[in-house]
Amino acid sequence: MDDGRHEPDGGAQDGPPGVPVAETPAGDRSTARGPSAAQGAAPVPGLPPTDQLLLALSRLGQAIRLGAWRNAGPHGLTPLQADIVTFLGGDDRPRRQTDVVRALASTAPTVSDAVRALAAKDLLTRGRDADDARAVSLRLTDAGRTEYRRLVQVPVELAEATGVLGAEDRGAVLRSAVAMMGVLQERRAIPVSRMCPTCRFFRPDAHDGELRHHCAFVDAAFADAELRVDCPDHATPD
Ligand code: SF4
Repeated sequence: MDDGRHEPDGGAQDGPPGVPVAETPAGDRSTARGPSAAQGAAPVPGLPPTDQLLLALSRLGQAIRLGAWRNAGPHGLTPLQADIVTFLGGDDRPRRQTDVVRALASTAPTVSDAVRALAAKDLLTRGRDADDARAVSLRLTDAGRTEYRRLVQVPVELAEATGVLGAEDRGAVLRSAVAMMGVLQERRAIPVSRMCPTCRFFRPDAHDGELRHHCAFVDAAFADAELRVDCPDHATPD
């Protein structure tokens, strides 16, 4: 998605498709492939790197939304209803409605309305929690499970986009994303995810080598590329 702001007037545009080439400083067209040593470290044009990073993340988010991942589908789900089905589908065990409220950083009445709508669509059942009769327990129906599988189906273009990353790059991106999400969660800018760094079973950098982390739940070492952003066995520290 090129917005054209990196196109120098009449300048040469070598390089891979989609990768912008540095603009030639005005008045020196002889160095179209970049600044010479005599020019020193000329700033790369455009917004600063952190802004570029946010732009890139925003564009990726746009692609995910336009790719209709987790969209309304045949049951006309609202985004919250889709989130609830996705949350419940990630775990076979029944979940308390209060867990849903907490996980999605929503409010009890809002989630209650969405749950009622999902029950009316025959996508989930509501019952009494086995350990607390006052708590509402939620479970997907067979139709809800089918809807969950549809919601988590990754569109071809997104699968191709993530497929260009090798395990090492995927690990680096995932590790960076998890670090940024941690800050945003602390600031309550996004809902708290059931991700490794907030899990009581997580032992970061416990080992040397690629499999650097340890999950005490399954007692296994794992790499950055296996970090979980949403894990059904996540447990908050005591
Ligand atoms: S239980 Fe899940 S969230 Fe917790 S450390 Fe293991 S993989 Fe990560």
